[in-house]
Order: sequence, then structure tokens, then C-alpha cells
Amino acid sequence: MSKRVLITGAAGFLGSHLCDRFVKDGFRVVGMDNLITGHISNIEHLMPLENFEFHHHDVSKFVHVSGQLDYVLHFASPASPIDYLKIPIQTLKVGSLGTHNLLGLSLSKKARMLIASTSEVYGDPLVHPQTEDYYGNVNPIGPRGVYDEAKRFQEAMTMAYHTYHGLETRIVRIFNTYGPRMRLNDGRVLPAFIGQALRGENLTIFGDGSQTRSFCYVADLVEGIVRLLMSDYAYPVNIGNPDEISISQFAKEIIELTGTNQEVTYQPLPKDDPMQRQPDISKAKEILGWEPKISRQEGLKITYDYFKSLPKESLYQKEHKNFEKYKR
Ligand code: UDP
Repeated sequence: MSKRVLITGAAGFLGSHLCDRFVKDGFRVVGMDNLITGHISNIEHLMPLENFEFHHHDVSKFVHVSGQLDYVLHFASPASPIDYLKIPIQTLKVGSLGTHNLLGLSLSKKARMLIASTSEVYGDPLVHPQTEDYYGNVNPIGPRGVYDEAKRFQEAMTMAYHTYHGLETRIVRIFNTYGPRMRLNDGRVLPAFIGQALRGENLTIFGDGSQTRSFCYVADLVEGIVRLLMSDYAYPVNIGNPDEISISQFAKEIIELTGTNQEVTYQPLPKDDPMQRQPDISKAKEILGWEPKISRQEGLKITYDYFKSLPKESLYQKEHKNFEKYKR
């Protein structure tokens, strides 16, 4: 019998790519999502397959899955600053209560659990590039605190299950990732810029654009996650592409890629927006033999082609339809 894996956040950007990978690798995949920020269209192609099943469920509530589970991957969470500003309590709950529920489930199934942590645990970092032993610089009560602290709690809870219960756990700290199936309206810089270019609007740079990020193409990230899951390393590992770029330079690349004749405009920098971010991936290289393979030029081209292929009306969809329903 093939191994069975539960992936939460299955209809989201990263979750859906993980579902694809595990289905392709012959696993039986249970995808779970409450469809607040995820979209069923991301996994529609998997629905008819025998080795894929979908459970519409909010993991902040008790999670039940019958039968064997060998691996649990917790990828459910809003993941962009404007999303967690809209649903801050949900964001805190999925990282804390959701993680606790899934750790309990993993323990009862004797499954290995991997959690999706984030470079946001480093906050606005004072150490550059960020190594896993850096404790971070997070403002718990700022607008990003609901995400950052939920993820920090998630790591602490996961380590406690590992040390106290002996549960097999893995922690991946994910840096900025991009690729097909990002939501055009999720507010992150890449879909924001490409959406603006496609609508013929100016690209909005927040602050003076000197802040940096390091963007990893989703296929590289998925490979790193699979390797970490199958490794025997229980401590956090950064997975990201160290190719750092300023947001101004990134805007130039998007203008060139899309051939838009629009310009950039400047808006205020959001509170606690990190000034620089670059993963130190020495650990991933050494322990997993992993490093990213896809250049930004290549990855951006694939991503742009994806956004161009979407129906025109999705370019103008401002608000995610499910937000109001789930606000509490
Ligand atoms: N950003 C920007 N214009 C936008 C959206 C984002 O200049 O329309 C900036 C944002 O202020 C941040 C960077 O791009 O400095 C990356 O933002 P994103 O939300 O993608 O990711 P995060 O800040 O969580 O790394």
C-alpha cells in the first residue's frame, strides 16, 4: 500500500503544488482546505484521480481523518500582509490551534509532521543574510505580528511535541516564493506588479524601493520541502533563493518582462515592512543537498505566462469573495 499524506492548505498556492508533487510521486494524498484564501480551481485537475481526496475543513477546529496517515504537511494559513490584516484572528488560530490539532492527529497516527514556517520569524532582521540560529526581530503587536507570532508559536509547539512526545517533526522556514497560482489580488509584490502591468496601471512601489527580498520559484521550493520531509533533521531549515534584489530593481524587471509602458509610483512603506531579506541556505545545501535551480528570469517568464492565461475578469477582482463570511 502506498504512503498516505495529509496536506493542509491544499487549495492554496504552495499547498496545491505540493499536492501535485505527492500525487505524481505515487502517494495517496488527502488535501484539506477551508477555502478562505485558497481556491478550488488550483486542485480541480486532481479531483478525478483515485489517489487524491479533498476535505473541506477548517483545521483550527478538531481535525479528523480516518485511516492511515504517514505524513502531515501543515500549509494552511493566509500568507500575505493584506490577507492577515483582513483576517487577523483566523491567521493566529490556524498557526496555533490548527498546528496543535494537527500535531495531535500526527501523534495518534504515528505520522511525521512538517510545518510551513517562514522567514517572517526573523521579523525585520538585524542579521543578514538570515541564518537559522538568528532569533529574529519581531514586533508582536504590529500588523504582521498575527502571522509572525503564530508561526513562532507553531515552531515552539512543534518542537515541544518532538522533544516531549518524540513525534517526528520537520520545520521549513520559507522565504518569498512565487509562481503560478498565486492570487492576483493577494497584495504580494509579484502578483501586484504583474496585475498592474496587465491592467495598464502604474506599478506601486512601497517606500523608496530600496528594501530587498529574495524570490524563489515554487518548483525549487517544493523540491526542498520534499527533501526535508524525507531527511532525519528535526530543526528549522531555511528554503529560499539567496538571489537578493531591491524592490525598485524588481519593478524594472517586471516592466521589462511585461513590456508595459507604465511607470512606477511611490506609496508609503507599510509598518514593520522588513528592510532586507536573504536566506542563508548553507544548512539546506549541507543537509539536504538542495539549492535552487531556476533563475528569476526563467521563473518570472513562466509566472507571467500563467497570469496572462487567466480570464480577464480575474484582473479586476479586488476582494476575495470568502473573506466576509469567515471574518470573526
Ligand atoms: N511591495 C511594493 N508594492 C506592492 C506590494 C508590495 O512595493 O504593491 C513591497 C512591500 O512593501 C515589501 C515587498 O514589496 O517591501 C515584498 O512584499 P510582499 O507583500 O510580497 O512580501 P513580504 O513583505 O511579506 O516579504
